[in-house]
Formats: sequence, C-alpha cells, structure tokens
Amino acid sequence: MRDEQMDVLIVGAGPVGLMAGLFLAQAGVSLRVIDQESGTAARSYGCALHSASLKHLQQLGLLDTVLGLGRKVSKVAFYERENRKAELDLAQAGAEFPFMLILPQDEFERMLVEALESRTGKAILWNHRLDDFQTAGDRVRSSVQELTGTSTGYVVPHWETVVKQRFDVHSSYVIGADGHRSLVRQRLGVASMGGTQREVFAAYEFTTDEAPYDEVRVVMDTDSSSVLWPLPGNKCRWAFQLLHSEATEFPDKERRALRVSDETTDQKIRDFVAGLAQKRAPWFKLSVKEVTWFSDVVFEHHCVKEFGAGRCWLAGDAAHQTGPVGVQSMNAGFIEAKALATAFGKGLEVRGGADLLQQFNREHQARWQQLLGLTGGLKPAANTDPWVKARAPRLLADLPAIDASLERLAGQLNLQLA
Ligand SMILES: Cc1cc2nc3c(=O)[nH]c(=O)nc-3n(C[C@H](O)[C@H](O)[C@H](O)COP(=O)(O)OP(=O)(O)OC[C@H]3O[C@@H](n4cnc5c(N)ncnc54)[C@H](O)[C@@H]3O)c2cc1C
Repeated sequence: MRDEQMDVLIVGAGPVGLMAGLFLAQAGVSLRVIDQESGTAARSYGCALHSASLKHLQQLGLLDTVLGLGRKVSKVAFYERENRKAELDLAQAGAEFPFMLILPQDEFERMLVEALESRTGKAILWNHRLDDFQTAGDRVRSSVQELTGTSTGYVVPHWETVVKQRFDVHSSYVIGADGHRSLVRQRLGVASMGGTQREVFAAYEFTTDEAPYDEVRVVMDTDSSSVLWPLPGNKCRWAFQLLHSEATEFPDKERRALRVSDETTDQKIRDFVAGLAQKRAPWFKLSVKEVTWFSDVVFEHHCVKEFGAGRCWLAGDAAHQTGPVGVQSMNAGFIEAKALATAFGKGLEVRGGADLLQQFNREHQARWQQLLGLTGGLKPAANTDPWVKARAPRLLADLPAIDASLERLAGQLNLQLA
C-alpha cells in the first residue's frame, strides 16, 4: 500500500486545476494533480481566453506558446437576425491585451499538461479518482482510487472502469478543481446561490471552405441567443440556445477525438446547422463542410455560498457556472487558481494563512455575485440604445471579461455594472 505526502493536492486536471498546478510549481510548492479520466478533453468547449488570462499565461512564461496556437479576435458583434445592433471593441477596452484569444479547450489543456509535466516531472496522475477526504489538524488525508479498465460481457464486449488499488494522500491543502459535479464541493457541503436560470445550448463544431468571420458574433432574438465562434484554421462553432430540449444535465467532457461517421446522418446534421443558422442569422454565408463535433449542454447560473473552508478550497466550475458566451466561468477559475496558489504559498510559511483564505472567499464571492447579477447587474443609462436596454440582463454573461475590464466593456454599450 503506497501513501503520498505533498503540500497541495489538486483534484481535477481541467484547465483550472492545471493552471493552479503551474502557479504552485512556480511558487516552489510541492503538488500532485489527480484526474479520474485517462487524459485531456477532446473538444473545443470553453474556447476563449480573456486578456486577464493571457496576462496569467505571460506570468507563467506561456504567452508565446498560446499565441502561436490560437486566433486573436478583437471584436464581438451583436445581431438580431440580419441586423447588426451593437459591438464591443476589445482594442478599446483598456485591458493589457487588446484582444481575446480563441483557442479550443482541448489544445489549451494539452499545452498546460506539457508545461506542467516539463516543470514538475510526473505531477499529474490520470485514472486516479478522489473518493473522500478528512482534515485532521494541519493535514488533509485524501482517499484516492487508482482506476483501470476491464472488458466485460460475453457476446458484446463492454469496457468498464474498476478500482485497481486505493491509497492515501496527505497534504496541507486540497484544491477542488473537479468541475461542475465537484465531489469536493459535495463533501464540503456548501450551498449555492443563484441557480434559478438554466439555459440549454446545442453546440456544433464544423469546418468551412471560407475564412471564418474575424469576430465573435452573438445573435440575440427576443428569447434565445446563439453564438458563432471563429476557431483557429477554417473551423467555426455555432452554439444555439434551445428553448425546448431533452437535455437535463451538464455533460461529461469527451476524451476521444474520433467520431464514427455516417454520411446520411452527417448530411442531416449539416443541413440542420445550415438551416438553423439561416433562420437565426440570415447574414451567415459560410459553408458547413464537416461537422466534427456536436453536443447539447445545460448551463446553470449559480455560485457557491462559500468557496471552501479550512484546508479545502474550490476553483473554477466546481464553484460556479454561468452562460457560455462570455466564457467567464473558466477564465474566473484562473484568477481563483492563482489566488489560491498565492495564499497556499504564503500560508504554508507564515501565520495568517487563514486570513488570506478568508479574504479569498470574500473577494471571489463578491465577484460572482456581480457576474450573476445578484448585486444589480447591468444598468442602462437614459441614453442607452433601446435594443441594448431590453437585453441588459442577458448581456451580462455575454461579455468576455471580468472585473474592471467587464465594467469598461459594459460602458461601450452604455451600461453600468452594479
Ligand atoms: C460540451 C461542453 C461545452 C462547453 N461549452 C462552453 C462554452 O461554450 N463556453 C464556456 O464558457 N464554457 C463551456 N463549457 C464549460 C467549460 O468547459 C468549463 O468552464 C471548463 O472546463 C471549466 O474548467 P475546470 O477546470 O473548472 O473544470 P473541468 O474542465 O470540468 O475539469 C474538472 C476535472 O476534474 C475531474 N474530476 C471530477 N471529479 C473528480 C474526482 N472525484 N477525482 C478526480 N478527478 C475528478 C474531471 O475528470 C475533469 O477533468 C463547456 C463544457 C462542455 C462539457
């Protein structure tokens, strides 16, 4: 039976857990990242890095690498059917970088894994699941299961995950970056605020013969939103908000990039995407060549009431979620990851670590109350365009920024962030 000791155990090797690992490694803190899956995500998911996240990557020495992988976009345009109603100019938002970077999440995760492994050796354990944890004094004992696959079934083989062995990890702190269904959050027993708003989107990623539009385009009808992302290369992603859908739960991230193709079904999917795009966005003239991925996703607008307690803290989707357009949940997760790494780095050496963590709790809760509109949301002025004014509550989650940059972007639409 093996036991492990380290300063910080990170549960979840998604983008937030990996960023936390990189910040901890930079601070000279010993760490281990565990993930119950066998490798990184295989799809584009949260595909935009805000200016603030690019600053974080610069601090980690990874800016040139991400810039080489992604597509810089400095405009977000808002449409209703064929009419361009408003636009955001990120170059005029006063942020450090005058653009956001469109980078599919799978490529971003792969880059983070490579960077973390090259800096820490074998810090990441794939196929390792957190089962439970308990704090005793100044240590947390986490029970971890090593998973393996086995084939079952006689006529039709079926691949099943089984527990190969269990062992304990002893750490000073635990970061729960274990995503939407976070076990760390459940075990901490923290409640959520918000949660009344739920949106279902159907995402379709496809190749096209033409160069994609050089901006993110958001279509806001009276009751639904859709967004067209220009991905790197000749690739795009449409996410259409569905008003009537069977989807009830946030899906698991896919780990296999391959899709079994069937020409009749694929043609039906291509026709559906082109048809719906034409209906909602008559300006859409790109060809839909090959649909490389599609999925329904449910987004809930909520945040935890406490980001953690004692020695176990949450970051990223484990703590919150909002609508997909502004990619705020993942990007806010990076700010939380950095703040926790800083607090743990200091807290491990000096007294006062508990104060730093309480401050973390207050700051990040306040940010999320603002992002969810619980403190008032976006307020129109007397001269705000009526179209923008009518959509002000929905626009909050659509702006690709957080904190002061979010206020400045809202200002471009003549809206004030309360
Ligand atoms: C289909 C889909 C489409 C999406 N589209 C968008 C979009 O358009 N815009 C947007 O902003 N966001 C989108 N997202 C959400 C985006 O992917 C998340 O915001 C982002 O992944 C959050 O990163 P994270 O590191 O906090 O969590 P995650 O990326 O969810 O990572 C959590 C990790 O923890 C691991 N884990 C969970 N439990 C355990 C355990 N007990 N033990 C060990 N490991 C565990 C999981 O395997 C996972 O790898 C989408 C997500 C999906 C699934």
